[in-house]
Amino acid sequence: MSCHGHNCFTWNGILRDLQGRNMFCRGQPSMSASPTSSNGFEVLLSALQNTEDVQSTVNVLNILDELLSAGTDRRIHYMIRKGGSEALLNALVNNYSGHCAHCNYKIVLPILYLLAKVGHKDRSIGKKAEEAGAVLLTLNLLKNNIKHAKRAAACLLVIQVFAQSVSTATLIGSNQGQDDIYRLMPRYTTENLQTIKASINAFAALLCSNTNISSAVSKGYVSGLLQLYEDWHSKDTKHSAIEIRHALLCCLHRITRRALGRRTFVSQGGLRLLYHTTQTCMLNKCLTSLVEPSVQLMRKCLPKTPLPLTSDHSAYSFPLPARQCTACNVVKTSDGHNLDFLEEDEEDDEECQEAATIDYDDDLETDLNKLCLCPDPDRPKEVLHQYSSLCPELSHDFQELDLSSRRSSPSSSSSSDDHNLACHNGERRWSTEVLSQAKKDPPNQTKSDAAILKAKDFNSHNGLLKTSTVVGSKVIQTREEAKTGPANDDCKDNREENNNSYDFTTIDKLIERQGVFIPYHEPTMYHAAAVKTKSIPGFDILAFPDFLGHVPKPENEPMATRKPGVQRQKVIEDIQRFMNTDDIINQVVFDMEDDRSPDMPDSLRFFSRFECGNLRKAIQVRRYEYDLILNADANCTQHTQWFYFEVSNMEPGVPYRFNIINCEKSNSQFNYGMQPVLYSVRDALNGQPCWLRSGTDICYFRNHFCPARGSRRTTFYTLTFTITFKHNEDVCYLAYHYPYTYTALMAHLKLLHRSIDPTKMYFRQQFLCATLAGNPCPIVTITGCPPSRDYKDIHQLRNRPCIVLTSRVHPGEPNASWVMKGTLEFLCSRDPVATALRETFVFKIVPMLNPDGVINGMHRCDLNKEDLNRQWSKPDPFLCPTIYHTKGFLYYLNSIGRTPLVFCDYHGHSRKKNVFLYGCSMKETLWQSSSAVDTAGLKEDPGYRAIAKALDRIAPAFSFNSCNYTVEKSRSSTARVVVWREIGVLRSYTMESTYNGFDQGIYKGLHMGIRELEEMGRNFCHSLLSMTKDTKELYDTSMINYINLDHNIQDHRSHNIFEDDEPPCAEEIEYSIECPGLPGSDLESDVNKCMACTDEEEGVAHLEGN
Ligand SMILES: [Zn+2]
Repeated sequence: MSCHGHNCFTWNGILRDLQGRNMFCRGQPSMSASPTSSNGFEVLLSALQNTEDVQSTVNVLNILDELLSAGTDRRIHYMIRKGGSEALLNALVNNYSGHCAHCNYKIVLPILYLLAKVGHKDRSIGKKAEEAGAVLLTLNLLKNNIKHAKRAAACLLVIQVFAQSVSTATLIGSNQGQDDIYRLMPRYTTENLQTIKASINAFAALLCSNTNISSAVSKGYVSGLLQLYEDWHSKDTKHSAIEIRHALLCCLHRITRRALGRRTFVSQGGLRLLYHTTQTCMLNKCLTSLVEPSVQLMRKCLPKTPLPLTSDHSAYSFPLPARQCTACNVVKTSDGHNLDFLEEDEEDDEECQEAATIDYDDDLETDLNKLCLCPDPDRPKEVLHQYSSLCPELSHDFQELDLSSRRSSPSSSSSSDDHNLACHNGERRWSTEVLSQAKKDPPNQTKSDAAILKAKDFNSHNGLLKTSTVVGSKVIQTREEAKTGPANDDCKDNREENNNSYDFTTIDKLIERQGVFIPYHEPTMYHAAAVKTKSIPGFDILAFPDFLGHVPKPENEPMATRKPGVQRQKVIEDIQRFMNTDDIINQVVFDMEDDRSPDMPDSLRFFSRFECGNLRKAIQVRRYEYDLILNADANCTQHTQWFYFEVSNMEPGVPYRFNIINCEKSNSQFNYGMQPVLYSVRDALNGQPCWLRSGTDICYFRNHFCPARGSRRTTFYTLTFTITFKHNEDVCYLAYHYPYTYTALMAHLKLLHRSIDPTKMYFRQQFLCATLAGNPCPIVTITGCPPSRDYKDIHQLRNRPCIVLTSRVHPGEPNASWVMKGTLEFLCSRDPVATALRETFVFKIVPMLNPDGVINGMHRCDLNKEDLNRQWSKPDPFLCPTIYHTKGFLYYLNSIGRTPLVFCDYHGHSRKKNVFLYGCSMKETLWQSSSAVDTAGLKEDPGYRAIAKALDRIAPAFSFNSCNYTVEKSRSSTARVVVWREIGVLRSYTMESTYNGFDQGIYKGLHMGIRELEEMGRNFCHSLLSMTKDTKELYDTSMINYINLDHNIQDHRSHNIFEDDEPPCAEEIEYSIECPGLPGSDLESDVNKCMACTDEEEGVAHLEGN
């Protein structure tokens, strides 16, 4: 157990050495113990406390100091465990009786130094010092030695260490210690710098206590500290006292932890002083270490500014069905809306920080009943029968198989009873041949055409480019002509399909001539689907990228490298808003709630009233800088993260700074290489319709804004990025991630259905239910047609195991939709693996669990302002219809003996890189929680890891080591846990895909793109082959081999699970409390410097100069 096991010294050697020097007094108890049998440290510590001989004590102290400075921190921690702190405290008390005259500083000084070094690493040193009676004794020692710089420094170092504990700091403060030390902090001098520094550090340490902060503020120390800082800053022209200046900044950082301190700092001119000193520091290389602490101090103290909104409530509100009123009262707290006791809290900084750290282990479910008991269904069995219609494959007679020899129109669909989708002739059908060719031939061949278009036709389309309202007006026109049917109506949409009254010729021509082939996308089809989409504000304009479509950028896009000092630069620019208001415009240029946007020729134009759009307000701050405010989720006051808006009227080649100022999360992948995405209509019309990762100078930090009404205790964060637009007269779109609308899903499903060969595969889209806003929620069945209508073939089909996939329960996670798109296209493809999967399984897919949230540009919730992925335990049939009916359908499958083999819910993840799975394992949860339950007797199918293992081999985006199979209490009402526990699906997963990029494998360093998301969706299907061992069909067909097809490119190594989640950033990301440290400065080096000081008795005149 000895932590010194492999280190370079032996105890016996040391102790022989000690004996050889004959340093122990005869008859001391410690000598009676045999050195070989007793621990050496213990011998030394015992000698320290019991010896009265001065030289022996000095020797022991020297040896201890040598031992500790030669080794690592482990030695110090070992000594602490062996009672080292107590021994030193006792030695101090024994050797100092309170009278200077009786004090032998030859012993006391080394004790103090050692105490500082050891106590610094001992978390309970304050408590131990109080118990030993050493706290006030040290303070007394300091008071008696104020004229003696070296002794005072030693006392100050120890006081600094004692003050690590808040209660000890308060004790020292209440005994005037803080005031005594404050008086030791002089104006500029060149003498006794070590002692001065020790006094300032001790003063800073005492400010960990709120009582001490209040007392310091009330005694005017804030202004004193500012004066001291200014004095040292202006007179220390040779920069030999940087450490002192830094220590003063640390005091100010500590004092401004409280709102009281921040207000005083500002009222005493702290902002202006720091702003000016920082200007000088930035010009001088040796002063850079003072810039970051100064900037963070100013950022922290900027006056709180309410968001310029009339209400914190979302601009969108939707009347919930009357029935719910009682329900909403119950759930109100989740909105963070406890208005009653929300006086501004002084400690908002610290409290926010602490809220972010949840004890993970406490969250693990340890109740065996909740881990393995399958509770009774949440509804009577009789109601389940309604879901039988969602298994149409079980009653289908496959008559079309008889027609297959004739090979008539592919539109004679297997599901023509409820789908009138197939009204298209063969030439428009997407066959896999066309698709694969299109992939091989990127739009290069059309480049020259595009160039001509650009030159010749661009002006004639100016109208289109200035704003997309041209497209929008078409939608209105069509909307009026085609009144939509009831939501549950199974796709009676031939009205739109056949309605060609709208004039699309301009755009049609454009699309034809630029010739970009966009798989599974047709603008006219998109348009027709959009007419039926119901939004709260009644969108009548389509965003151009959604309408025209887009293709992935041909090349991979690397994640951005963070420019050193970018956060500092941006924060200084924000501080300048208060310091130098000459160039500040502060003009609202866009307001979602006010259509009368001012016509400002020199400002950008913004727009967001389209599906998935989210931008509430834009304020021009400076000529090329805009503050943007996001809209909270409908009916809510929070969940601002997703954004998607249009911007136009830009000057090309000019960097525009955008600040999204009401972000809520405390950190973001935008600090770790993530870029937002940008789509240029000009580029699209020039043949490159792509969403591109864009933006420079990206960072994310805590800002000075607060809610408009000031009643919620919330701090906001700024996401800032700079865009330099390429073209003038362009219309661009910016988004958090690649948008994927509900309309896109509906159009996609139609095109997919059209693409399949109904004699080979069975594809049927139905509607699970209508959402609160009346949008139909589609559910898709995909399986293979039986080879014939023989009884045994039909029987095989009806006994295929089910696989249930869902996604997009969180509307701000379009990455989940792109993965689902990859899955759907793969399952409908002619790939032999897809064929095998269809012949083996029946896929039941709900591709968008939260259409209303998606349509209205929300981030987290549904219209009932709840996170739908926390509703699975007891979903309300009226408030959460999609969850209620998905769960009901799963109950139904269970009740007819067709419990799904696999369930997976696709999500996006904003804090981690790569793609990974969360699953459920009873045993892993109990192991991780170190529960007392004996898991040996518990039976658990180990197959829950099979899919992750397969993905680890075949999917380069996938990180096996990021997967987790523990069941947390806080997740007990998520799809994954409820489907596992209540429906009894052993392989029940959440699949998380990053918004950012990859830090492992062959994609390491690259951004996640649409291509990689769709590939992940395909690879997930591939991994399902690992499930087919249960089904004898695939044993014969050697399909299992397909799983190895991609093996040669998979040389990736998953990163170590124990590594930090994120690599360290180029600069410290510091939002709130502590002062950024000074490189190469720590307490131990301070102690060593003090020890090395010459022991001068004079030269203390300046010490009391303040
Ligand atoms: Zn999610």
